[in-house]
This record gives sequence, structure tokens and C-alpha cells, in this order.
Amino acid sequence: MTLTTTTTTATATTEAAELRRVAAVASALRGAGATVMTCDTTRDGHHATLTTANAASGSTGSNKTSNGKKKATTAADAAATIAGLPAWVGELRRELDGEFYELKDELRHFLDSTPLFDLRFGLSTAEQRKITQERALTIIQSKVVQSLFAEHIARKPGSLQKGWASGEIMGMTDLSVNVKLGVMTWLFGGAVMSLGSDELVAKWFAPLARGEFTGMFAMTEIGHGSNVRSIETLATYDPKTQEFVITTPHPYARKAYIGNALNGEYAVVFANLVPADGKSRGPHAFVVPMRSKDKVMYPGVSVWDMGEKEGLNGVDNGVISFSGARIPRDHLLNRFADVDAKGNYTTTIASDSKRFNAMLAALTGTRVALASSANCVMKVGLAIAIRYAARRRQFGPSPPKPKRGSKQAAPTTAPASGASSNPAAFAFSELEEGSVIPIPASVMTSTELPILAYQTHQTRLMPLLAASLAIANLARHAAKTLEKCAIEMQESNREVQALCAGLKAYSSWKCIESLQTARECCGGQGYLAENRLVGMRADTDIYVTFEGDNIVLLQQVAKELIAQYAAQFETGMFTGILSFFSNQVVLSLKTSRFAARSYPVSAPEFHVKALAFKEAKLLTLLAKRLLQRVKREKKDPFLAWNECLDHIVNLSTTHIERVCVEKFYASIATSKASPRVKEILSTAAQLHAASILYRDRAWYLEHNYMTTAHSCELRDIVLELSANFSRDALAVVEAFGIPDRCLHAPIAGVVSGTTAARNSWSYFSNALMDPSFAPRD
Ligand SMILES: Cc1cc2nc3c(=O)[nH]c(=O)nc-3n(C[C@H](O)[C@H](O)[C@H](O)COP(=O)(O)OP(=O)(O)OC[C@H]3O[C@@H](n4cnc5c(N)ncnc54)[C@H](O)[C@@H]3O)c2cc1C
Repeated sequence: MTLTTTTTTATATTEAAELRRVAAVASALRGAGATVMTCDTTRDGHHATLTTANAASGSTGSNKTSNGKKKATTAADAAATIAGLPAWVGELRRELDGEFYELKDELRHFLDSTPLFDLRFGLSTAEQRKITQERALTIIQSKVVQSLFAEHIARKPGSLQKGWASGEIMGMTDLSVNVKLGVMTWLFGGAVMSLGSDELVAKWFAPLARGEFTGMFAMTEIGHGSNVRSIETLATYDPKTQEFVITTPHPYARKAYIGNALNGEYAVVFANLVPADGKSRGPHAFVVPMRSKDKVMYPGVSVWDMGEKEGLNGVDNGVISFSGARIPRDHLLNRFADVDAKGNYTTTIASDSKRFNAMLAALTGTRVALASSANCVMKVGLAIAIRYAARRRQFGPSPPKPKRGSKQAAPTTAPASGASSNPAAFAFSELEEGSVIPIPASVMTSTELPILAYQTHQTRLMPLLAASLAIANLARHAAKTLEKCAIEMQESNREVQALCAGLKAYSSWKCIESLQTARECCGGQGYLAENRLVGMRADTDIYVTFEGDNIVLLQQVAKELIAQYAAQFETGMFTGILSFFSNQVVLSLKTSRFAARSYPVSAPEFHVKALAFKEAKLLTLLAKRLLQRVKREKKDPFLAWNECLDHIVNLSTTHIERVCVEKFYASIATSKASPRVKEILSTAAQLHAASILYRDRAWYLEHNYMTTAHSCELRDIVLELSANFSRDALAVVEAFGIPDRCLHAPIAGVVSGTTAARNSWSYFSNALMDPSFAPRD
């Protein structure tokens, strides 16, 4: 439906007026604390709103919606209803929101009722930075985030998980704000919380939480990014003044890419601690004052603006150099090590490398936050592409010819959605009254197909939609496990660290794959800035690099996998691996292969066993290859590892995919959701798993695990499940509960906030509210 070809100036003006009207209605409803967007309003193509949207404000208003439907009166009641949609859609939203659904609704309401979060386009870098700072501080000082901080400082059980859960909603707003907040709270604040004593938490985290200052996190140096252990900044203790002196020994050791560097008053700086004996004890974290409240730099600190980047230009990244900046002794974050007044060094972890790992482990939480952020963006991108795909029509079967002698016009519409497997079932009959855009009659009567009906569109988008649900589930599992470790004060749980490292890599790669696919699936419209996909793609590009480069993180996963097996033996790592594999793994591989053959290719058991087989096989082979090089060929272990890197990355990816698939099936099995919601989730889980196995079919054929018949069956399953899932896709993305201000994209039928879309011609109303697209019960 191309408006441009038929739109005159007069209609364009009408359209713009209509768009403004929708925005005004939405804004008025929000301002009045209205709970329900009536069915009529949503039919204007606007975003359907869950009836709990004002649960936070507590207002219930009238007991009826304007279309006469009974309005939910309690949060529990309301949670199961999205205006105008079958109950399962609301229930799915509750299921996807999980334990902290009330917090999430509160955050949605906060974002949708704060005009500052209206997305802005075409701003200069300076303007972007200004608004990002303002938005970040508004979030920090909001009532909902303040109460989260209070629980966090009191180390209340569940408070960490609530922090990650809040990221699942805040991650949907502008990404510069997210990253800036991540630097201030997860990185600076997280380092203080995890590496500082209780006194230091009270000293630094509490005022940070009140928004009295902002912080940054300075670990990376120009010379050393991934290899943090080799950083060269020095923190030399001076017993005379009881201060540490922070120095950058040479330009290559300057801190680089540091977020909030142009604004923050304090930095957590990683530097090699040199106590009074002059012997470096390796990297430790220090709180370094950078500039005064009125932005005057402190002596010994220099900062350079790094300028424009591909994306995230609301974040001010900078290079920092220290030339003898002095900080008091108690600015050392001293959970694992301390220096007394005379300069004697004490530590609770004797081994330098174990202490360093413990310090890095304390920062693992930021990886879960980043993975959640990537998952949010993936969902927003897919929601935009799927909504557009349901509306956009291109090509189609020839219109039926009128029967000879008959005066009756050819039918202009197709049967209602769900009625048959004919792709024309996607067609919609009449555009209902009250639509925002008067779509030309020629489009309404078109027999062209919505592009979502194309098999390729289904196989491009649906496996990614399924993956977004699987990854969200994995992120929640990681959050729960990580919080348990924090409560038990475990210095370092390598297994959880590996899980979080793998999750971050998997989630960020899937995010950029989804955004690129979504962009391509939206054709030319996808290239328009206001339709968001290109901006989000540019912003998340770096997610695969910061917070640990993905390839480096996957090596951490593989090291843990190898160490887990070897740890079962008292002998050295390599001998341990050898004896382990010569016994149990080989046995389990045989069993796995046998068991897998007893399940149909569509069965979850087949999926899990196939992935487990691949993982175990890759691990066995890797162990053999390493042994061969280290034991027999006497190669340096580092070089031997390097010769197997391709294999290592394959192993780690398989591991994280196996865990992701297994956890998704497990949580569906224990879910108390209705059969309809479970059916949706099971379709997603099967599609996610089958797509992975189909992608890797060559490996399974090479290893004689699958037959060619299996491979063909898998292909059919992926095609069938993609088609099936596409019929519920509009409702599934509705259940993501993306606030209008975050979803804003004319092609998705959402123009949020106080101004109409800049490109009203690109507006396509939300098909979900069209009767022909009504979700299946
Ligand atoms: C926008 C932005 C914001 C940032 N914010 C901060 C911040 O606030 N604070 C902070 O401290 N840092 C920050 N960083 C730095 C970021 O964490 C680093 O860029 C990251 O750790 C990677 O380091 P590097 O850039 O030096 O890449 P390198 O480590 O040099 O990696 C370059 C390439 O080499 C590969 N590689 C490296 N080592 C290996 C290996 N062992 N095996 C195989 N391949 C390898 C990598 O996969 C990568 O492709 C930020 C970076 C950016 C771009």
C-alpha cells in the first residue's frame, strides 16, 4: 500500500492531521491516567494497551470501556486482558514478563507518561548528549528506580533480579540512554557494590543512587582492550601522604573509549597497585575524582573527547590520561585486598590470577544487563518488521476471472485469517472506520499478498522471533543463578561466569542479525531513520565488542567446559581430560546417539539430545587435539589453544545453544500457563531448536548422527513451524508490551508522543486490530 503514488497535497495534509489526532488522543489518555485504549482507538492503528497500564497509579476510573467492554478492576484481573484481544495475549504478556511483571508495568507507565522519552531524530551530537544526560538522570531520580536502588543498597534478596528485570523494559528506550545508565549504574555503581566494603558502598553508591554525581568505568587502555590483565596504568602508594598516585606511564596506556568521560565526576579506574614494597600486585579498582561539580578538572587528570561514533552518539566517550593524580588511601575498592597506612598489602586471595578473576567475576552482572538490552532491541526490531509485514502488500495471485455472462464483480477480499492455509487468508476485507490513514480503495481491494504471507519472510523472521523468546528465558535463568551466587557471597563461580559470557555473546549476535534481517524485510521503509531499524542496528553493533569481545568471551566458555571435566580428576588438566573422555564421555556419546534415534525429529528430546551430542563430541575432539599438541608435540599450551580456536568457538556456541534450548523447554514444562500460551511457547521452542539443527545439518550428517531423511524432515519442520508461528506473530509482539514511546515507527503503526510522524506517508496502521488479522483464539 503505497500512499505516495496516490496522495495529493490535500490528502497528505489530512493524513498529518489524523496522525496528530491519534497522538493527541493517546497523549490525553495517558495524561488522564486512562487505563484502556478502547478497541476503537486501537483500530486507529495505535498500539493496543494492556489494561494494567495504570496499575502503578492505582486509578481505575469507570468500570466500562467506551466500547462497553467490562474493564478489569484489579491488577491480577487486568493482567490477563489486552483491550480488544483474546485473553491469551494478555496472559502471554504476563508469562513473558515473569515474576516482576508489576515492576515492568510501572516502568512502562513511567516511559509512556514522560514526554522527555519521545524519540528524537536528526539531532546533533551535542544535542544527543544533552538529552541523553537529562533522560538518564530523570530515570535515576524516578520513584520506581529510587526504590530499586534502596533495595539494592540493602542487598535485599531479589533486588539484583529486579535490576535486570527493569532493564528488560528500559532497554526498549533510546539506546544511548541505556548505555549511559549502564556505565553509571551497572559499571561504576556495580564495581563499588561488588568490589567495595559496606562503608565504601555507603560512601559512593548511596549518593550516586540519589543522582548527586555520575560515574564512569575506566578499564580499557589504548594498548590493552580484551587483555585487561596487561593494563599498565599505575596506582603507586605514597606512605608519606597516605595516598595513591595514579599515573599513565605512556600514551599507549591511556584509558580509551570511556563512557561518560566528558561529564562524570568520578571514575572507577583499574590500575596496577604498587604498595610500599614497590612490587606490583596487578590490576585493582580505585575511585578517582575526575572533575568538580562545576566541571573543573582535578589536577593530574586529562580527558579528550573521542568524537562521533557509528552509533550511541548520546554517550560521551573519551580518552583519559593521568599524570600523578592523588587519591586518598580509602579510595581503593577493598573487598579482596587492602593497603594499610604504612603501605603493607593484604589480600583474602593469595593468588594474583585468582584475585584478578574474582574482581572480574564481580562485574559479570553487567553482561547479563547487556544481554537483556540486546534482547529488548531484538524484540523492538522484530515487532516493527512483523507489523509492517502484515500490512505491506506486494504481488499476488491473479484476481479470479468473472464467470462468463455474470455481471458480478470479482471478489476483492480473501477469507478471514485462520480460515485456511491459503496465503490469501492474510488479506483483510474492509479498512474499518476511524482509520488514521485513508488507504486508497485500490489498495484495499488488492489481491496482492501481505509480505508476511511469503514463505521466505516467514523463515527469515519467525526463527528470530522464536530465538528472542528463548534468549529472554535464558537471560532470566542467568539472572536468577547469578543472584544466588551473590547472596552466597561466592568470590567467583566460573560456571555462572561462563553462562553469562556465552549469553552475552549469543544475545548480542542474535540482536544484530535480527536488526539486519528486519531492515531487509522492510525494504526501503526499513532504511528510513524514523522507522528505527538502522539506528538500532548502528547502536547495537558495538554490543558484540564491549563488555568483553564475543570471541574472547566464547573462549572463556570453552575453558570452563574443559576445566569442569578435568576438575573431576586429581591429575593435571590434560591427563584429567584424557582419562575422563576415555571412559564416560565416549559411553555417553554412544548412548546419546542411540537415544536420539528413538525420537521423531520434531520431538524436544531429539533436539536436546542432538545438541548435547554435538557439544560432547566437540569437547572430546577438542580435548584430543589439545592433548596431541601439548603432550605429544610439546607445543606451548597458548599456541596449541590458538590452533584450535575455530573449533573452540564452535564448541562454545553449541554449548550456549544447547543450554538455551534445554532451559526453554524446561521452563515451558513447569509453566502454569494455559494450554494456548504453552502452545505458543512450545512452537517457539521447537522452531528455535529445529532452526539450529537445520543450520548445522552438514555437521550432523558428517558425524553420522542424522540421515539425509532426518535433514529433509527438519527442513519441513522449520517451514511448517515458521508458517504456523507467523499466524500468531502479531499477537506475540503485542505481548512484548513495548511502550509506545519506545516502539515509535510509522511502519509499525505507532507514532508516539506529542508530535506526529515526521514521515506520515510511511504510516501503516497496526494490522492486529483489523478483524481479518484477529488473533486465533
Ligand atoms: C562505544 C564504546 C564504549 C566503550 N565503553 C567503555 C567503558 O565505558 N569503559 C571501558 O573500560 N571500556 C569501554 N570500551 C572498550 C571496550 O570494552 C573494548 O573495545 C573491548 O574490550 C575490546 O577491546 P579492543 O577494542 O581493544 O579490541 P581488541 O581486544 O584489540 O580486539 C580486536 C579484535 O581482535 C580479536 N581478538 C582479541 N583477542 C583475541 C584472542 N585472544 N583470540 C581471538 N581473537 C582475539 C577480537 O575478537 C577483535 O575482533 C568501549 C568501547 C566502545 C567502542
